[in-house]
Amino acid sequence: MKLGLVRELLPDATGMSADALAAAVKALVLPVARPRPIAEAISSAGGVDWAGVDERFMLRALPGVFVAGEMLDWEAPTGGYLLTASFATGRAAGLAAAAHAG
Ligand SMILES: Cc1cc2nc3c(=O)[nH]c(=O)nc-3n(C[C@H](O)[C@H](O)[C@H](O)COP(=O)(O)OP(=O)(O)OC[C@H]3O[C@@H](n4cnc5c(N)ncnc54)[C@H](O)[C@@H]3O)c2cc1C
Repeated sequence: MKLGLVRELLPDATGMSADALAAAVKALVLPVARPRPIAEAISSAGGVDWAGVDERFMLRALPGVFVAGEMLDWEAPTGGYLLTASFATGRAAGLAAAAHAG
């Protein structure tokens, strides 16, 4: 992340002296043109495909292995629902894992 910012904002970084580069990094200005639309503010993306888990959150390909939270492929708008969904799926997967273990 830090290297990406330096490359983006200091394109001539490789030609700078160490002192000049250090000073520039410590005072890096990050221009913000405008916010992205709220509809694009998705906090979670990617993860195990829903088709890969059964109704108990157990992996169809690896019986006995359960997934929850951000391991699952679900998306939520930014705003505090990730913890709620992570706790909910974690509880359900944990109970199912305990039942599976007998
Ligand atoms: C800065 C920040 C702010 C956030 N603010 C909010 C908020 O205000 N409201 C909200 O709802 N959500 C918020 N979220 C999102 C929320 O924190 C996450 O969606 C949620 O914590 C995901 O829970 P999880 O259990 O799926 O994963 P995690 O909380 O990431 O837990 C995964 C755990 O697995 C451990 N782990 C990883 N690999 C291994 C391994 N090989 N062996 C053993 N353990 C391992 C990790 O150390 C970690 O403890 C925020 C996230 C961030 C980063």
